[in-house]
Amino acid sequence: MELINTNLHSSLIIRKAMRSLCVILVFAQLSCSTPSQEVQFDGQSALMFVVEQMAFGPRIPGSEESWKTAVWVVEQMESIGWETEVQHFSYRGTPLMNIIAKSEGGSERKPILVGAHYDTRPYADRDPINPEAPVPGANDGASGVAVLIELARVLDKDRIRQPVWLVFFDAEDSGNIDGWDWIVGSSFFVDNLTQDLEAAVIVDMVGDRDLQLFIEKNSDPGLVQEIWQLADQLGYAAFINTPKYSMIDDHSPFLRIGVPAVDIIDFDYPYWHTISDTSDKVSADSLEQVGRTLEHWLENQR
Ligand SMILES: [Zn+2]
Repeated sequence: MELINTNLHSSLIIRKAMRSLCVILVFAQLSCSTPSQEVQFDGQSALMFVVEQMAFGPRIPGSEESWKTAVWVVEQMESIGWETEVQHFSYRGTPLMNIIAKSEGGSERKPILVGAHYDTRPYADRDPINPEAPVPGANDGASGVAVLIELARVLDKDRIRQPVWLVFFDAEDSGNIDGWDWIVGSSFFVDNLTQDLEAAVIVDMVGDRDLQLFIEKNSDPGLVQEIWQLADQLGYAAFINTPKYSMIDDHSPFLRIGVPAVDIIDFDYPYWHTISDTSDKVSADSLEQVGRTLEHWLENQR
């Protein structure tokens, strides 16, 4: 990971310092008002992670922007105490990377994986005006990654009874372009798994201001009910307990090998695969509904 240039590096350090300051301020505020309350998933913090990814530009597989984003993800995860490994591979001559962060402890149980793709689509082929331009990917890409990083920051490791793997997949979203398949990174990950997983939860396009999370029809029904009912108990209206779409997404390879998997996705996103998939379409509240649901779910496994 030394390809990073000095300017980028120093700006990362400054951003990291600013974030630490914010975190300290948040802590200070919490300890003034509610001393016993644990740190919870914060939508504003997650939204900052979206904005930081967008600053790299489109994260097209194999590009320098993708590489810089991967370095940034590793730095974020390691700065909050998550050991991270990078899975290098190539597809049709393009070097790709999955990023894998694992919590420690509870290793007698099977891990739970939470995943998101960090790549963005090379062409905005649903854009009516500029279909040759790349997708910026604020919701389709950055939102899922932001949820994973913010989850990593707030998860209470003492309350987690099994290993949690947070996995950032490359090359989900280049399907039907230049002969590429969809879900390349997650397929490679699954084909090289050496350990059985308890469950896989994918978050994709979870930042839309008007968030509507219908049930994706291929998802494991038991897992769906656990998560959607928990969201209901928490009062999060974005989770709608009605099936709607069937998707090929990063949950598909896990289902193929028999791991219960769910795709948490809002497919009613008007800016999907257009150049208008930008940060202003993403809301902190939406990210928070998804993040807090997963935080509770992971911290309250029996
Ligand atoms: Zn997409």
